[in-house]
Amino acid sequence: MIQIVLATTNDAKAREFVGILGETVDIIVPGDLPFVAEDGETLLENAYKKARSAADHLGYEALADDSGLFVDALGGSPGVHSARFAGPDSDDAANRSKLLAMLEDIGDRTAHFETVLCLCAPGAALKDSQYFEGRCEGRIIGREKGAHGFGYDPIFVPSEGDGRTFGEMTANEKSELSHRSKAISRLKDFLLETAG
Ligand code: IMP
Repeated sequence: MIQIVLATTNDAKAREFVGILGETVDIIVPGDLPFVAEDGETLLENAYKKARSAADHLGYEALADDSGLFVDALGGSPGVHSARFAGPDSDDAANRSKLLAMLEDIGDRTAHFETVLCLCAPGAALKDSQYFEGRCEGRIIGREKGAHGFGYDPIFVPSEGDGRTFGEMTANEKSELSHRSKAISRLKDFLLETAG
């Protein structure tokens, strides 16, 4: 079986990877990885920084992801700054409140989530690493709905869904539509192809 090291400290994320890749790939989540400042200007740069740091530390290929919410009326904000939109120590609730306040009088509520995965070998340059992208179109509603998920889930309604927010969906329902699962599926196709 193919083995992949996933550089994350987020258990929910690791479970999503295992759910999609589990039958094809043995996913190893190292307990202890060096801190990486997510200060890149793009999701791709941050995903590369995390994967490269883990690969260099462990001595073999590693996978990392970075995601964000891009709101059209705000020129793509919060984007790469999604995790700390309301300030350096902000939490998910504060980030959602800030976004809802900024969109209060705005009619165009279209937005999308985006994920970039990076598969990187020890010492590999950014241009020599593999990238897999996933995108989920939708819109931001006016108030929170649902208690599942994390981040902006309670205020994001995916276009391909049934009108419920991600926060109103089970993890499996969200996984049918999510940016992250689309990127992971692309990675899966790549791994199956390259494994012959
Ligand atoms: P990460 O790179 O996956 O940790 O995502 C960075 C930030 O983007 C998170 O802290 C959330 O604010 C937001 N985000 C990313 N993916 C999702 C999602 O699936 N639902 C809600 N918020 C998300």
